[in-house]
Amino acid sequence: MNKERHLIVISGPSGSGKDTVVKRLMELHPEIEVSVSATTRPMRSGEKEGVNYFYLTREEFERRIQAGEILEYAEYCENYYGTPKSEVDKRIENGITVILVIEVIGAGNIKKIYPNAVTIFVRPPSYGELEERLRGRGTETEESIQKRLARAVEEMEYAVDYNEVVINDTVDECAEEIYGLIQKYQQEEE
Ligand code: 5GP
Repeated sequence: MNKERHLIVISGPSGSGKDTVVKRLMELHPEIEVSVSATTRPMRSGEKEGVNYFYLTREEFERRIQAGEILEYAEYCENYYGTPKSEVDKRIENGITVILVIEVIGAGNIKKIYPNAVTIFVRPPSYGELEERLRGRGTETEESIQKRLARAVEEMEYAVDYNEVVINDTVDECAEEIYGLIQKYQQEEE
C-alpha cells in the first residue's frame, strides 16, 4: 500500500463536531492514532499539555518553523497551529494510520507534500447547529465565537477540495462512516 494512505486529514469548521467524532473513532478503533498539534492559543479549561496540544509561545513556534520541525502550519483566528514532524514521520513509515485534525489551509499544504493522503471534510448538519455547538461548549468568548463563525462560512467553501465530505448528524454514525472511508482508500491502493 502507498504509505501516504496512512495519513488521514480531517477538517471541518469550528463547531462541526469533528473533534468529538475523531475521539469516538479512536475509541472504536484504537489502532488508529491522532497527531497532537502545536499551538500558540491559550489552553482551554479541561485541556492538557501534550494531550490536546503542545502549547507554545509565538517565539518558540517560530523557532520550530525555522528549525524545520513543523510539517505544516497555518494562522487561524490570530494563533499559530501546526503539525510537528515527529507526530507523523515515524508512524506512517511504520504503517500506523495517523489522523491530522487540521484547518483547511494546512490540509492543502499536506496534499502538496503527500498527494495521496486521504482528506475528509466534516460538515455540521446546518449552520444553526454549528452555532449552537460552538456556543454550547462554553469555552469561547463572544469575540472568539464571532470570529470562528465568520471563518466557518469561508471554510465550508474548501469542502470541494477534499476526497470526501461527511455530515456529522450523529457522532457514532459519522465516526463509522469515516472509518469505512479510511478502509476503502487503504484497500484501493493494495
Ligand atoms: P481549536 O482552537 O478549536 O482547537 O482549533 C482551531 C482550528 O485549528 C481547528 O480547525 C483545528 O482543526 C485547527 N488545527 C488544530 N491543529 C492544527 C494544526 O496542526 N495545523 C493546522 N493547520 N490547523 C490545526
